[in-house]
Formats: sequence, C-alpha cells, structure tokens
Amino acid sequence: MGVIGEVLGNLLRKPFTRLYPFEKEDVPQRFRGNIKYFSDKCIGCRLCEKNCPANAITFHKKGCIDFDMGKCIYCGMCGDVCPTQAIVYTNDYERAETSKKKIKPIQS
Ligand code: SF4
Ligand code: SF4
Repeated sequence: MGVIGEVLGNLLRKPFTRLYPFEKEDVPQRFRGNIKYFSDKCIGCRLCEKNCPANAITFHKKGCIDFDMGKCIYCGMCGDVCPTQAIVYTNDYERAETSKKKIKPIQS
C-alpha cells in the first residue's frame, strides 16, 4: 500500500488514544492502584512493614500504619503478605502530582 493509501486508511480507523481524563480506561482485574488499609482487620504482625521494598510503611501500633505513597512502587507485596487482607488495592490510578511532597500519605 502506498503512502496515500496508508493515510486514507488511517483516516477511516478509530483512534487508538483516549480523550483522558474525559474518557477513562477500565482497569484489569487485580490492578494495583491506590492502597486501602482496613485498620479494624489489622492484627499488628508487621509483615507488611518488614516486606516493603521501598520502606514506604511505618508501623505505629496495631491498626495504626502510615503508607508513604510518594515512596510506594505499587509492588503489591504488603497486600500479598498480610494474613488478614487488611491491605487491598483499589482501581484508583489517578495519583499524579507535580511534586512528591504533594502526594498524600494513607494514614489510619
Ligand atoms: S505496594 Fe509495595 S512499595 Fe507500596 S507500600 Fe506495599 S509493599 Fe511497599
Ligand atoms: S501485614 Fe496486615 S495484619 Fe500485619 S501489620 Fe500489616 S496490615 Fe496489619
């Protein structure tokens, strides 16, 4: 196909891009977005803190943990090791900020 044919073919195709943020992408199952912490389920084992490769978790006491989302790499380790499913991942992926300091921590 020549260049003209390629151009005409592309004019008839639907765009591959979306008009984000007006059109949002559906995320796949098991997507790891923003963390949600259920303090009432926490048994204080500290496995999440010990296994976090980014040192993003500060354990204060059972049911009281801070997640520094500026450090978090969304690896999923804390949720995987938590024996009570006190940590889950939401579909929220809109976490971009212009500065690391503006990223809100998750605190219980
Ligand atoms: S998802 Fe990974 S980096 Fe983020 S808090 Fe959990 S263990 Fe740490
Ligand atoms: S791994 Fe789960 S139960 Fe253990 S301290 Fe962390 S959040 Fe609490």
